[in-house]
Amino acid sequence: MTTQAHACDGLHTIAQQVRSGTVTASARVESCLARIEARGAQIHAFNEVLAADARAAALRIDACVQRGESPGPLAGVVLAIKDNIATKIGHTTCSSRFLENYRSPFDATVIQRLEAAGAILIGKTNLDEFAMGSSTENSAFGPTRNPWDPSRVPGGSSGGSAAAVTAGFCDAALGSDTGGSIRQPASLCGCVGFKPTYGRISRYGLVAFGSSLDQIGPFARDVRGCAELFAAMSGSDRLDSTTAPLEVPDCLTQLDEPLRGLRVGVPREYRSDANSPAVASVLEDAINAYRSLGATIIDVELPLTDVGISTYYVIAPAEASSNLARFDGIRYGKRAEMAAGDGLEELYAKSRSEGFGPEVQRRIMLGTYVLSSGYYDAYYNRALQVRRRIREEFDRAFERCDVLLGPTSPIPAFEIGGKSDPWAMYLCDVYTVNTNIAGIPGISLNAGYSQEGSVSLPIGMQLQGPAFSESLLLRAARMLERALPPVYPA
Ligand code: GLN
Repeated sequence: MTTQAHACDGLHTIAQQVRSGTVTASARVESCLARIEARGAQIHAFNEVLAADARAAALRIDACVQRGESPGPLAGVVLAIKDNIATKIGHTTCSSRFLENYRSPFDATVIQRLEAAGAILIGKTNLDEFAMGSSTENSAFGPTRNPWDPSRVPGGSSGGSAAAVTAGFCDAALGSDTGGSIRQPASLCGCVGFKPTYGRISRYGLVAFGSSLDQIGPFARDVRGCAELFAAMSGSDRLDSTTAPLEVPDCLTQLDEPLRGLRVGVPREYRSDANSPAVASVLEDAINAYRSLGATIIDVELPLTDVGISTYYVIAPAEASSNLARFDGIRYGKRAEMAAGDGLEELYAKSRSEGFGPEVQRRIMLGTYVLSSGYYDAYYNRALQVRRRIREEFDRAFERCDVLLGPTSPIPAFEIGGKSDPWAMYLCDVYTVNTNIAGIPGISLNAGYSQEGSVSLPIGMQLQGPAFSESLLLRAARMLERALPPVYPA
């Protein structure tokens, strides 16, 4: 794989060029479409490429520039959207047979805000069906492949978005993160993925999976790009009552100024034997990089790291089983063919059996089981108690440090088909689920590579910070990015 260095100067340079007429939005769209044409079929990052809509949007931006009007801070930025975020253009399928033909009558709040800022949608990206998975293999439309090595997964569930950004099919993308679905694919593909604090970004128009865990967030090729998308789409929204009624702090002006006296906590549990040797060594590189930047490295303990998976796999399926009840073949979803004598019960059962893939059915069964009378206290209530303790554990850690550093994933990208046991797949999320359980922000950025024969595989590091500390977290990430800059497939 030939690679190229990346300047890490974010997306605003694109908008500057488009505004000044150095490049047109139309030319930018064409160059993305050309890259998709060349490698799109191999990678399968998109469920749908919206070429005509993207061209029309680019013409509108270019006309705006011609008239001397301001086309917005993200003018001409080409954006891919995870296919569980509602867009009026194209379909919104959640990579499910059930919603194969679904078109949303409205745009998600994030889409409205980003389009108003001048961004251009180029397509809807593949995901694990209803965002359930860590490899994008659970898509009903076939897996997405890792741009570094097409025999491997891109991670998931937002694997299509991470692969599209990494392969240069777009400038940036949106994903959703319920237990790691932005950060883990960013790590496995080598780009940057950012899950903001729960409540920072409106979920209106995101097809709900686990409503107390879900957050929308950006993918970009550098930290600044993520910060710029974050700035354009975050803030309270009357259409999502869980958005925080807080001013979004300016996270761009000081982004490049290194933090003095930064305290970086490294949880002992994140240096686990379960990490691959390459991941363990990149973690040490990241620690050394912070040290040489003058940060203080602090040993911390997060003993509840291990119970995150079991807690998450009670809470997330419980919420999913309720959220997915609307897909019944009547209100939403493709209706199964009925036989003579079939009643409503059969209509639901047949439609849901045909519509949902095996992992989604497993989650619904897990969820209804843990919520059923007799088990509710033993599983669901117990998980909520552990959730509170996980939050308190992070609160205590953040009394001693500003950010927490560790691997995003214990292993680099694995082979397609390499994890057939659901539990083995769930273990991929060991470092990411607790972020959602606690509702705090987390970002994954590349910090090194593992050489496996002739291929090199990216390895991401995760930084987590206290709730609503995005501006500090992004600055801390930017420091690491400058010390260990990423490269991308040419
Ligand atoms: N991999 C986790 C799961 O399968 C997380 C998914 C997500 O964040 N959407 O549930």
